[in-house]
Amino acid sequence: MITAERKPLEEILQSVSSFDRILIVGCNECVTVCAAGGRKEVGLLASALNMSMLKAGRPVQLTEHTLERQCDPEYVDELAQLVTGADAILSMACGCGVQELARRYRDKPVLPALNTKFMGAAERPGVWAERCAGCGNCVLGVTGGICPIARCSKRLMNGPCGGSGNGKCEISDEVDCAWQLIWDRLKALGKTDLYEQNMDAKDWRPAGGGGPRRIVREDLTE
Ligand code: SF4
Ligand code: SF4
Repeated sequence: MITAERKPLEEILQSVSSFDRILIVGCNECVTVCAAGGRKEVGLLASALNMSMLKAGRPVQLTEHTLERQCDPEYVDELAQLVTGADAILSMACGCGVQELARRYRDKPVLPALNTKFMGAAERPGVWAERCAGCGNCVLGVTGGICPIARCSKRLMNGPCGGSGNGKCEISDEVDCAWQLIWDRLKALGKTDLYEQNMDAKDWRPAGGGGPRRIVREDLTE
């Protein structure tokens, strides 16, 4: 999923300070799962903003709404009436949702309430870790299911580097060396021959180095 964290309240307050009617929009997908921008977080942010604004002697009108998916035009349309009555939209989706609202409602400022982080998985309750960098050409099949791009600090396609020690990455004793993990996993699978085969230098064009990416499925286009 796409992970995100809420921006500091002070920063959000600053971004909405010139508006009287604010529509706060959450998303029921990834940001709900990582407890950053679902219905519950929309309610919490609205309460915090309300209290801060009242304290500052500047009450505002706050409207709350959470969409099924904020990055999907099919759902974004249902906001039309609420947007009409708002001076600004405060999005609690990832950057994709913020941009979809900005594309659909061109005459309204759309402000991000979250910092979008990475594509990750839950390691344990309350802890999410990066797992995929969307490189466009997945190599997990030859790396034991462990991503050398998202999980190696140097994005090495052949590792480990000289900084690996005791299974940890040179950046911190608390960070596993991805290439140690890859080796351990390939060993457990009886596939160390895969480790011996050097991978070619990465072509970064499918990873975004060739410009903004799109997927076009002719069978689904209208
Ligand atoms: S190899 Fe690329 S697509 Fe596969 S998990 Fe890593 S970043 Fe994602
Ligand atoms: S120590 Fe391991 S994870 Fe860290 S940069 Fe080197 S190969 Fe990558």
